[in-house]
Amino acid sequence: MKVFKFGGASVKDGAAVKNVSKILSLFGGEKRTVIISAMGKTTNEMEKIVKALWDKDKRKYNELVEERLQFHLKILSELFEEKHYAIYTEVENLFENLKNRFDQPVSDNFDFEYDQIVSLGEVISTVIVTAFLKEEGHSVAWADARKLIRTSNLYREGAVDWAITEKAIQEKFIPVFKEVDIQVTQGFIGHTSEVFTTTLGREGSDYTAGIFAYCCNAESVTIWKDVPGMLNADPKWFDNTVKLDSISFKEAIELSYYGATVIHPKTIKPLQNKGIPLYVKSFIDPQAEGTVIQKSTENDHLIPSFIFKMNQLYLHFTPKDFSFIVEENLSDIFNRLASVNAKINLMQNSALSFAVALDQDKINLEKLLDIFKESYDIRYNEGLELVTIRHYDQATIDRVTIGKEILVEQKTKETARFLLRDL
Ligand code: ASP
Repeated sequence: MKVFKFGGASVKDGAAVKNVSKILSLFGGEKRTVIISAMGKTTNEMEKIVKALWDKDKRKYNELVEERLQFHLKILSELFEEKHYAIYTEVENLFENLKNRFDQPVSDNFDFEYDQIVSLGEVISTVIVTAFLKEEGHSVAWADARKLIRTSNLYREGAVDWAITEKAIQEKFIPVFKEVDIQVTQGFIGHTSEVFTTTLGREGSDYTAGIFAYCCNAESVTIWKDVPGMLNADPKWFDNTVKLDSISFKEAIELSYYGATVIHPKTIKPLQNKGIPLYVKSFIDPQAEGTVIQKSTENDHLIPSFIFKMNQLYLHFTPKDFSFIVEENLSDIFNRLASVNAKINLMQNSALSFAVALDQDKINLEKLLDIFKESYDIRYNEGLELVTIRHYDQATIDRVTIGKEILVEQKTKETARFLLRDL
């Protein structure tokens, strides 16, 4: 069985859904698990709906729900010519329930409410895609990921219970392939032991593909994207990007650790554990090769990869009592940083100071300075750029550092990192 994942952009309108059907036809007769995200930017819009509920803003809530309904109705009209199809009623009912939710009691846990509402984006998307695939003559069934993937009750960041999930998928999902060739299910969502819906964290649908592949012992996973595969840099920051034809699981994890965003970082581990190859392919040009992520590290060094993190804040801490930077004050600094949810991108220390680079837009600088000020002197630089080069050589270093001042430089055998400021 093959696992396919289609993200929001690949189901953003009627034409995109028709393209999904065409891609599935290329694999006719094979068993396929199809993981689908919410359509287009629906998850962002659902987040706004949750906020309106939380703010008790009924006018805004109704307006946003209506706008989402119209968005999906438009896609239905592009897919189904006649309005009498049952799918219209099904989608309208889902929205009716969502609308009525505003007048029902709201819990005091924002994250819980978030998961119950935001998850509907995936539910709506999959019922529409399944109905269309049926209409197109595919042998297909809809599966409810909320009944298969068991998570902790950490809402918005559900941790997968692998044993229970694997059993559910083996018992309730795999046997359905005796009757159909394709099962369509939702990315990003699961359920708790109390049968409440959870989500796996934003962009979590790739991870769902990894979970299903692991639990079904799938032969491969393909993530269909609007890029030709994994590129060696984000084209937003870099001209002349090159596609990586084949990289190892280890390399993919390294790249996502440093900030590459093509694949959700949690996706790789279950696949690596079972040696299931992951293909990243273009839904615009489905016959093209794409990228394969697999066991062999043979090709990892062939092409240097560049990862850019913009808008970095570089903070230097010096203990006020002039003490050395050793284990005690390091753990104190880490604890204080963790208390404001700061995620460290780079660290550097000397005898008397410790420095970190952080994503500036993810932290509250004032609050951060406040919790350190009585024990540490702090200096900081704003608006910096952090560049990581995997498999670097001098030419690639020159290419990214030209016209910049290097504030920090760190090199290991395979990785060079630079914190840069425009000159
Ligand atoms: N729809 C979810 C999101 O936008 C999950 C995903 O697409 O991966 O974050």
